[in-house]
Amino acid sequence: APRLAPRMSSVGASPTAEISNKVRSLKSAGHAVVNLGEGELDFPTPPAIADAGIAAIRNGETKYTAVSGTADLKAAIAAKFLRENQLSYEPREIIAGAGAKQLIFNAFLATLSPGDEVIIPAPYWVSYPDMIRLAGGEPVIVETTRSEGWVLQPDALRAAITPKTRWVVLNSPNNPTGAVYSPEAMKRLTDILVAHPDVLVMADDIYEHLRFAGPFATPAALEPALFDRTLTINGVSKGYSMTGWRIGYAGGPAWLISAMEILQSQSTSNPSTISQAAAVAALTGDLGFMAEWISILRDRRDIVMDMVAATPGLEADTPDGAFYVFADCSGLIGSATASGKVLGSDLDVAGYLLEEAHVGTVHGSAFGAPGHLRIAYAVDTDVLREACARITAACGRLR
Ligand code: PLP
Repeated sequence: APRLAPRMSSVGASPTAEISNKVRSLKSAGHAVVNLGEGELDFPTPPAIADAGIAAIRNGETKYTAVSGTADLKAAIAAKFLRENQLSYEPREIIAGAGAKQLIFNAFLATLSPGDEVIIPAPYWVSYPDMIRLAGGEPVIVETTRSEGWVLQPDALRAAITPKTRWVVLNSPNNPTGAVYSPEAMKRLTDILVAHPDVLVMADDIYEHLRFAGPFATPAALEPALFDRTLTINGVSKGYSMTGWRIGYAGGPAWLISAMEILQSQSTSNPSTISQAAAVAALTGDLGFMAEWISILRDRRDIVMDMVAATPGLEADTPDGAFYVFADCSGLIGSATASGKVLGSDLDVAGYLLEEAHVGTVHGSAFGAPGHLRIAYAVDTDVLREACARITAACGRLR
């Protein structure tokens, strides 16, 4: 019989896989399924950025580079951190990788020993807990609530810190809630962290540019006392619609960055040269396209919020960022479909919407928040409108 390593027993495939499989099989059966479960923008990568990738191929930039990224890319990343975040990193304090995902994973792998704890506010991005377990650590989940805007509360953070705490992960704008931490809310957390010098801070800023309201706050800039032990993670996937290019980057203390670089050098080496060149164009180029994207996304967010308001059993507050509405669907749990099936959980609600409305969403349990649905509005606006109408109609047929 095949034998897998024990570490494989602590992790599973992405919890969204089941929904994606059903979406695929409904589509192949000829149904017009709208997938509002996907965490990526529908916009094409801006042409000037894509052209820089094409030029890199033509220029023969097709060989190994420094593991942590080309000098050009590191300079563009350093300039971005300084310009947009008032953070000053040296080249040896910067690393580029195959997506923010690889960097987050390597940061955990480089630092966690058995029994080490990592504090994650829930709802959370699905990959954090499994990455932590793969690296031998223990995720410590701290709940946030809708009534507190899905923002981690200082008392909850204080209560979760133990002598074993190695990291605290902060993700704003947040996946799956769209919550944006105000500078004041962030400062209340960094004030606590200052008093715990052994705790590292991971700022997952991947949705930084996708905001409709409020300033952006990142811990290392807000609290200079934390600069030396904060890993600031970002990337081009979300803000520039470049998920497939696989470029993420991080700024942090040199000891940590060099450990992450060693892991990368023995696993994947440098991220794709073509993508690195495109990322330079993204980080140094004109951001003119973004205002239009934000305005399209704001309209779509409002379409989803109108749908939620018009659908008995769904409730949500307007999110300030990312491209998700995280709706409370507990009002639908316990109701029965026309065929008499009782919806017993958020997974059942998501399954019902998929089968009955042909709309894919992700159940909140996947993010550590049962009784909710994550609705990603990263699809064409007219298609979104149609999907929303189908959700409202399908919910209206529940008894
Ligand atoms: N962090 C969060 C919160 C995310 O939602 C994602 C993508 O879904 C990532 C990190 C990883 O992004 P990438 O690896 O594409 O840079």
